[in-house]
Amino acid sequence: GMPATPPLRLAERRQSRQIMVGDVPVGGGAPVSVQSMTTTSTADINATLQQIAELTASGCQIVRVAVPTADDAEALPIIAKKSQIPVIADIHFQPKYVFAAIEAGCAAVRVNPGNIKKFDDKVGEIAKAASEAGVPIRIGVNAGSLDKRLLAKYGKATPEALAESALWECSLFEEHGFRDIKISVKHNDPVVMVNAYRQLAAQCDYPLHLGVTEAGPAFQGTIKSSVAFGALLAEGIGDTIRVSLSAPPAEEVKVGAQILESLGLRERGLEIVSCPSCGRAQVDVYSLADEVTAGLEGMDVPLRVAVMGCVVNGPGEARDADLGVASGNGKGQIFVKGEVIKTVPESKIVETLIEEAMRLAEDMKDE
Ligand code: SF4
Repeated sequence: GMPATPPLRLAERRQSRQIMVGDVPVGGGAPVSVQSMTTTSTADINATLQQIAELTASGCQIVRVAVPTADDAEALPIIAKKSQIPVIADIHFQPKYVFAAIEAGCAAVRVNPGNIKKFDDKVGEIAKAASEAGVPIRIGVNAGSLDKRLLAKYGKATPEALAESALWECSLFEEHGFRDIKISVKHNDPVVMVNAYRQLAAQCDYPLHLGVTEAGPAFQGTIKSSVAFGALLAEGIGDTIRVSLSAPPAEEVKVGAQILESLGLRERGLEIVSCPSCGRAQVDVYSLADEVTAGLEGMDVPLRVAVMGCVVNGPGEARDADLGVASGNGKGQIFVKGEVIKTVPESKIVETLIEEAMRLAEDMKDE
């Protein structure tokens, strides 16, 4: 075949130290990973494991579970053992659950120091337990639960306040020789969030977990996260991401994966290149694109499929794609690797594209 061309990059990745979240490397040049968080009650072991299985199937690489009560902490050993992907225990308020999570075999623990009372006295013990177990800690600062001291100093959750809070908490762990850390500083405003991460990136070498918190319902949240992550990842900042949506977590994972694919940070899977349609269109491009997308759903191959409304740009786009259609006059010209292989009536466009896609996918497997 053709020699592989190296992928275009927006920027060199920021040099961060690497930590291991279970078997997933984070930072230090490792691929950017996608995370999500379960919405089940963690104490409900079956429901939680079921959701983790769904998340794993949608491409989630690391999952976080909330641990607000003793019942949740008690569920951790089984969840950590049976989950197919590394489990991070999310702890607010009670340091004792941090020890429980480490003992339970969780791959990492997320703490929000602004929220844990008397946390400072406990840091040494946590650092010791975590380091003995080889468990990294995520310092997760949230605008909504910022340390009171910093809130007083800055008046509100500014980028400076978020970054300073995170780095101060890191320094407490560093005093105990613990540096197996990653950091998040989440805010619901992408502008504040981007600036906070930029400051962190410049001031430390810890891997960074990107998130826009309370990003909102699917449409708004997708855009907020995409824009914010895009800005940072385009500068090489970010080692793992979580899209927060008021929607089922599997949706978060799909959006996260798409963001990485869009930026060339992950191999592209199936990609539909469809035109927006215009006055020249001789076919209903929206329905055609929807039907092709639905017909190809679940095909896990890096295939570019062009769905074009007319022959003006159709052939050009189709030439770049692996497969495509340019419609016109009630017919569709079907392109494979830039060549018109046949012309079919409009009613046969979708099934022909699906057939050809299957054939190409088979060829790829053979190669
Ligand atoms: Fe318009 Fe044709 Fe371009 Fe689609 S491919 S936007 S129909 S010119």
